Amino acid sequence: MLNIILFGGPGSGKGTQAKRLVEVYGVDHLSTGDMLRAEIASGSDLGGRVESVIASGSLVSDDLILEIVRERVACTRSSVKGYIFDGFPRTVAQAEGLSSLFEELGLGITCVLELDVPEAELLKRLSLRASSENRADDQDPSVLRERLSVYHRQTAPVADFYKSRQLLHRVDGTGTLEEITARLCGVIDAVR
Ligand code: AMP
Repeated sequence: MLNIILFGGPGSGKGTQAKRLVEVYGVDHLSTGDMLRAEIASGSDLGGRVESVIASGSLVSDDLILEIVRERVACTRSSVKGYIFDGFPRTVAQAEGLSSLFEELGLGITCVLELDVPEAELLKRLSLRASSENRADDQDPSVLRERLSVYHRQTAPVADFYKSRQLLHRVDGTGTLEEITARLCGVIDAVR
């Protein structure tokens, strides 16, 4: 199985590049943000519980995220070639939870690809996305600041977690979409 974690700040291009990598490698795109937005859109209880958390720019609880990832992997693992995790893990506790889940299932992480994009560029892309995708959490500047601060406080340490396990690869996340995809594929093909 090819199990890739795409890592990077909000606006670093994880979602866009994950979709392109799915085209290349035929793996399942597992985006916890997309899964949560689908829950909200469906009007489920879970959606109702997470809506205000997402709107504020904070993180949904680790237990809830690990539960939805566990369920998705349990349902799909026998029919997929692997996963691209996008927006997960976002805390060290989630990274530890994923390690336990994979250990239980006899699976391994192929590599963690960190999209490296300067903060000024992140802000520029997020304001573009706010108008093109109509995402409420991209539109309010104070929510955006909170998401960037959450990223630095809670998510950036996940990079060290994987660095110490020799799984982290930093990839220049600037340039054209094609250039970035080629860099990501270069790493994947070298380590798989
Ligand atoms: P994203 O689409 O990945 O930017 O996620 C949008 C929002 O969903 C985040 O700002 C969080 O509120 C929530 N979210 C998505 N993935 C996670 C996760 N792995 N852990 C906690 N919260 C998450």
